[in-house]
Amino acid sequence: MPVSSSPNLERAGLDPANIDIVFFTHMHSDHVNGAVREVNGELVLTFPNARYLVRSAEWHRFDNQPESRASVADALNLLEHRIEFAEEGEYIVPGVRVLATPGHTAGHASLLVTAGEERVIILGDIFHSAVQIEHPEWTNSLDSGDPEQAKVTRRQMLQELARPSTTGVATHVANSVFMKVEAAHSGFRLLER
Ligand SMILES: [Zn+2]
Repeated sequence: MPVSSSPNLERAGLDPANIDIVFFTHMHSDHVNGAVREVNGELVLTFPNARYLVRSAEWHRFDNQPESRASVADALNLLEHRIEFAEEGEYIVPGVRVLATPGHTAGHASLLVTAGEERVIILGDIFHSAVQIEHPEWTNSLDSGDPEQAKVTRRQMLQELARPSTTGVATHVANSVFMKVEAAHSGFRLLER
C-alpha cells in the first residue's frame, strides 16, 4: 500500500520535492512503499525530483520467479524508468559510501556515513532485535534472502560497529535505533546509554 502523505517529513520541515537522493537498503515493502503515494486517485512518486538508488543485485532479484513482486508492485512499476544502481564501495555523495551487506535479501546494502572521525552506519535490516547483537546467529523469518549469509553479515557488521566513534542505525531495533556496540569477552554487546 502506498502512503498517502509524508507527515514525518512535514514535521521535520522538509518538502518531498527537495529530496534529491533516495537510497533503498533493500526492496521490502516497509522500505520501499513510502516512495509511492496517491494523489487524486493516481499513483505518483513521493519525491518527484529525487534520484532513486539501489544495488543492482537487489533490483534484479525480482527478475527471477518465484520472487514475489506483489507487495511492492506499485513502487517497482513507477521506479522502473528512474532507478539507478549504486554498488559496493560507491560514494552516493561525498562521505556516504555503499556497503554490500547481503543476507536479509540478496542485494541488501548499508550506508557508511563518515564525518571527520565520526562514523554512522545505516544498517537497513541487518538486525531486527537487540538480542542479535549478542546472538548474531539467531535468525528470523524476515531474513528472506539467505539466512546463513545474514548471520555472516551480522558478525562482520558487529566488527565494524565496535570500531571507535561508530553509531549504528537500525530502524527495527526498538529503543536502540541509534546503537553503540562494543566487543565483549564472548562476542559483542550493546552499550547502555
Ligand atoms: Zn526487510
